Amino acid sequence: MDERSLLMIPGPTNVAPSVLSTLARPTLSHVSGTFADILKQTLGDLGKIFKTKSGLILPLAGTGTLGSEVALANVIEPNDKVLAVSNGYFADRLVEVAATLGAKIDREHVAWGSVADPHEVEKKLSTNNYKALLVVHVDTSTGAANPIEKLGRVARSRDALFIVDAVCSLGGMDVESDAWGIDVCFTGSQKALGVPPGLAIISFGPNALKAREERKTPIGTYYGDLKRWAPVMEDPTKYFATHPVNMIYALHHSCSMILSEGLDARFARHTKMAEAFRAAMKSIGLQLLCKENESASTLTVTHYPNGVIDSEFRKTMAEKYGIVVAGGLGPLSQKVFRVGHMGNINRNDLLATIAAVEGSLTEQSFQFTSSGVAAANRTFAAVR
Ligand code: PLP
Repeated sequence: MDERSLLMIPGPTNVAPSVLSTLARPTLSHVSGTFADILKQTLGDLGKIFKTKSGLILPLAGTGTLGSEVALANVIEPNDKVLAVSNGYFADRLVEVAATLGAKIDREHVAWGSVADPHEVEKKLSTNNYKALLVVHVDTSTGAANPIEKLGRVARSRDALFIVDAVCSLGGMDVESDAWGIDVCFTGSQKALGVPPGLAIISFGPNALKAREERKTPIGTYYGDLKRWAPVMEDPTKYFATHPVNMIYALHHSCSMILSEGLDARFARHTKMAEAFRAAMKSIGLQLLCKENESASTLTVTHYPNGVIDSEFRKTMAEKYGIVVAGGLGPLSQKVFRVGHMGNINRNDLLATIAAVEGSLTEQSFQFTSSGVAAANRTFAAVR
């Protein structure tokens, strides 16, 4: 493995060396006072990042998919009606998880690369007694950012629980759990939080806790039952199941880095990176999947020009430039490439990636006249 290769896929992302080194610290007892303090501080920091004062936050050993399962398994019961915004690969996955739990699902279909229209969602929500509205904030297959603040208002007005997959946004884009009425929000450690893969982090607000309390049917998960975890998060010297101790060190350290950068500054950095990358792609004549004002700050999905072969392009990127980017998912396979610019990414990483995209396209005889690197630099230099 080339130790200097640059991971520019939309997760896992590059992990800061200081975060990585926490993994090598001696493993403490999971019920020791010292570890309890670390976990408590981490929960406090996560509250600031999820922007919730009242949420119960569970950092569990697992990945984003476990996050979706734990999120839904606590509040959804067999035969509950739910409405799911369906505009990407991970939106489909959320539907599959809900179906596995016995929910009756209707979908608000939106083209991949576009975002949900809150008025349309409201219309659909009003046609039935839906228990929950499920939305993926940023679907990593498309890079489109659903308007979750507005969708939260719609869900609230219809008394539906608002369940948000923030796997590809939290830590890189604003997610205001309390203010936007998000009842359950979940993410994974490996994206904009800048931690290796291995943690599912789920936040339950008061309405979700009530829904768990008032279940009429037994819960179908043992490990993921928030009622088993709640006392442990209150007092981490209690035992329910062993915490992923070293991963919590990493999360703890990364959360401190995020908060010392400052959330607003961090979101502004992500916005700038995304703008610079999009400017570069457009400047060399490539087409973006999403509209500018519907694009996420965490990744960009770009169409290949005619004649460019996906596997060759990504092989050149990886083997000749040491930069790993992702291919398209589902119907976008072979048609697009996906570049993650979240977490610890800096200008240097982004400019190197743009230069490598130019070089890899050149190897497939793609002709362009203007420089993407120059366009990105102009974006960086522009003062708002
Ligand atoms: N949701 C979104 C938006 C994702 O991007 C991903 C993974 O990329 C998942 C859910 C699933 O997460 P994981 O692969 O960590 O299980």
